[in-house]
Amino acid sequence: MPERTAVAVVGAGYAGLSAALKLHDAGEEVLVLEAADRVGGRIFTGALADGTPVDHGGQWAGPTQHRLLGLAERFGVETFPTYADGANVELWHDGAVRHFTIAGPEDGPGMDEYIRATARIDALATTVDLENPAATPNAEDLDSETAHSYFERTVPDEDARLRLALAVQGVWTVEPRDISMLHLLFYVASAGSFEQLMEVEDCAQDSRFVAGAQAPALRIAELLGERVRLGCEVTRIEQDGDAVTLETSRGAVVADRVVFALPPSAAAKVRFSPRLPDARVRWWAKSPMGDVAKIHVAYPTPFWRERGLSGEVSAYGDPAVGVVFDNSPQDASTGVLVCFVYADRLRRWAALDGAARRAEVLDLLKRVFGEDAAEPVEYVEKIWNEDAFAGGGYAANPVPGTWIEYGERGWREPVGRIHWAGTETASVWNGYMDGAISSGYRAADEVLAARG
Ligand SMILES: Cc1cc2nc3c(=O)[nH]c(=O)nc-3n(C[C@H](O)[C@H](O)[C@H](O)COP(=O)(O)OP(=O)(O)OC[C@H]3O[C@@H](n4cnc5c(N)ncnc54)[C@H](O)[C@@H]3O)c2cc1C
Repeated sequence: MPERTAVAVVGAGYAGLSAALKLHDAGEEVLVLEAADRVGGRIFTGALADGTPVDHGGQWAGPTQHRLLGLAERFGVETFPTYADGANVELWHDGAVRHFTIAGPEDGPGMDEYIRATARIDALATTVDLENPAATPNAEDLDSETAHSYFERTVPDEDARLRLALAVQGVWTVEPRDISMLHLLFYVASAGSFEQLMEVEDCAQDSRFVAGAQAPALRIAELLGERVRLGCEVTRIEQDGDAVTLETSRGAVVADRVVFALPPSAAAKVRFSPRLPDARVRWWAKSPMGDVAKIHVAYPTPFWRERGLSGEVSAYGDPAVGVVFDNSPQDASTGVLVCFVYADRLRRWAALDGAARRAEVLDLLKRVFGEDAAEPVEYVEKIWNEDAFAGGGYAANPVPGTWIEYGERGWREPVGRIHWAGTETASVWNGYMDGAISSGYRAADEVLAARG
């Protein structure tokens, strides 16, 4: 006999867990079906050999991410400021190494032009309709253009374009040729400004979680107890006028309503009966995940701090690693650098064998931080494209044409008894944990309204 529940939630990332929490708080009976053997999805806190928590997936929280901070507060999970004292380093394609000590360099190759370009992007972003990006004035033109063609057309300085390319890789984990200008503007508007996406203090990279970013997710799962089923992959969903039947790797479940909280990459693998509307299917098909890997490199101490360096690096041009941050624990009991590899850089680097990948990462750290960087006590990689359930990260990026062709009907409009969540369906902080949580709350509200 199939198991029965009032609401089935598919996926135990922050979106699914937040939906389940809100429904549970409202007295609804929920059952969360999660394919992996853990909750958290694209948030995954591991540990170094000495027990230091390291976030292989999402990690930072910003002060305007009220839903994420609200959840952390509710469950007593503490945050601490990202280490940002001292000079940041830029590594240029000609080998030049530049140091600067403020949030962004005031001068340097292409800087003036870069600042003008980001101000234009901010101004254009204010025109975006966050509830329905397809209804943005000029949506058709904006969604017909890639960030690459926009930069080529409007930014004459090549070094400024290199800065913008690294910004696109760092924030969207794609090359500028792969992202719709409308989606880029939507994302900027969704976060508040270009600066919000890029910077540390008071911005998206402001703080980290002492116990790791998975801690609030683990606490929600603990509260829900047996209502969270791990190792339970949903393979088929069939709905009729009365109920929804979900086929899973652990048997069938029948529910009155479903909150479906998977990224487009995973969603497209589930079969639906009756067939979903074209707009919905196409939205997923035309929203590929970005390409990203995170590498943690640990040392006995954060030795770069003694040399007046913050640990933050931006590397333009060819190196596999594009960006580095100090990811040491709050008490600095060990020194940890986190290195990000994105997009084209990832495709080349990920094809190397393990020893060559490690050598390339350490070589960059040596160039920037000196010989001490050559001998880490630990080196840990997480290549998100190889993750069985996420298939990439940080999030999905609709390719040009997707918003205007399928956005209005395919983005998050419920289909019968199925309600769509996931960070990709959020209006605010889309692509981030905060967006995932707000999408879960919105889907839960839809379910509560539908069930009276
Ligand atoms: C490397 C990296 C760095 C990031 N950095 C940050 C950051 O610093 N700050 C920030 O806010 N965000 C960051 N993000 C983005 C953030 O992780 C995501 O926005 C957020 O976690 C998405 O949550 P979600 O619930 O929408 O989706 P997911 O976390 O992807 O959850 C979906 C869940 O569904 C499960 N699932 C998949 N298929 C099935 C199936 N068929 N049946 C049942 N379950 C299934 C998955 O296992 C997963 O648990 C980062 C992401 C990555 C990958």
